[in-house]
Amino acid sequence: MLSKDQLLQIAERFGTPVYVYDAEKMKEQYQKLKSGFAGLDASFFFACKALTNINVLKYISSLGCGIDCSSINEVKLALHAGVSPENILYTSNGISFEEIQEAVKNGVHVNIDSLSNLEKFGKKFGSSYPVGVRLRPNILAGGNLKISTGHEKSKFGIPVDQLDNLLDVIKQHNIHIKTLHIHTGSDIKDAEVFVHGIKVLTELVAHFPDLEVIDLGGGFKVPYEPDDEETDIAHIAQRLKTYLESHLFNKGKTYTLWFEPGKYLVSECGYLLTQVNVMKDNGAQTFAGINTGLNHLIRPMMYDAYHHIVNLSNAHAEEKVYTVTGYICETDTFATDRLLHEVREGDVLAIYNAGAYGFEMSSNYNSRYKPAEVLVLDGEAKLIRKRDEFEDLLRNQVKAL
Ligand SMILES: *Cc1c(COP(=O)(O)O)cnc(C)c1O
Repeated sequence: MLSKDQLLQIAERFGTPVYVYDAEKMKEQYQKLKSGFAGLDASFFFACKALTNINVLKYISSLGCGIDCSSINEVKLALHAGVSPENILYTSNGISFEEIQEAVKNGVHVNIDSLSNLEKFGKKFGSSYPVGVRLRPNILAGGNLKISTGHEKSKFGIPVDQLDNLLDVIKQHNIHIKTLHIHTGSDIKDAEVFVHGIKVLTELVAHFPDLEVIDLGGGFKVPYEPDDEETDIAHIAQRLKTYLESHLFNKGKTYTLWFEPGKYLVSECGYLLTQVNVMKDNGAQTFAGINTGLNHLIRPMMYDAYHHIVNLSNAHAEEKVYTVTGYICETDTFATDRLLHEVREGDVLAIYNAGAYGFEMSSNYNSRYKPAEVLVLDGEAKLIRKRDEFEDLLRNQVKAL
């Protein structure tokens, strides 16, 4: 964890708003996964849609972690960062077949999520390229419906109730199914959700003689609120191991487990540093208006997500109640009636858990610049993305009049 002083120094040196990522914390999270799952043959692929800066991809890959991608451009970024194709997984959803072909050309692992694309894949590649299928397990899990992806009405994956159609397509084209994949959602702490997932897959494995890998997706929850509990990875691993050994591995065949953690690896390593533009008192509430908004961090507005906020530059003052709002012409509230050390104009605030789905979901709404990104590695703060400039707003605009 970075200290308040370290964060303040970064704000002074690089200006605000700025995203800061602590490499040490990413490593600590990865090691918790590795040691928690030490008793199983498990590999991890960082779901990089959470944070795609190429320096982060390179660093996480250097730890021994693979990279999971949700678009062909993420695949290209990972390759660009120097990740080798066998350590890249492309778990697609609703994409064009052209992207799948490009992924195959690049030699990365692919999980296909529709019968239609699987059929096209079979016609083109037959058994020549071992592939995975993403199934929809009909499990309702995740912090809220917006981040729940495996339930009965979800667009994700091939519904397990269409198994017969799936097997027909595989048989017709002699497709080599190497991986079965499910991803039930995000913010999951309950080991039983993962056990439930394995149970659904256990009933299916007999239909897939070439199967080598069971991919359980991502979704491990991290603490957001100060009293949130951390996900007990070792407990999840133990529950899965017990289940697998008594229900699946006892038939003489074992499978490699894959996971695709996004948030777990990078949420807590990240901070969004921002400065207070204006204080406003409307009688009932005191607003702290900060120099960022839903254009930089949309999770509080889109998911009602809690993000802890700390006043770095007045850390010893008395605590008072504030509503922290952004500078965008929309209601972009980061926190309502939150206790913070007395906030003054010019103070620097840190918004916590900003590593995952923070910068990644940022935009230029209100023609604002996207913030800079800084990575702290071995005690040194390095700029890993420049703040936008005015030219960036004009880039790709065509002066046609
Ligand atoms: C988003 C996503 C993940 C990562 O989810 P987290 O909640 O960030 O761990 C993993 N796998 C797939 C297929 C995803 O779409």
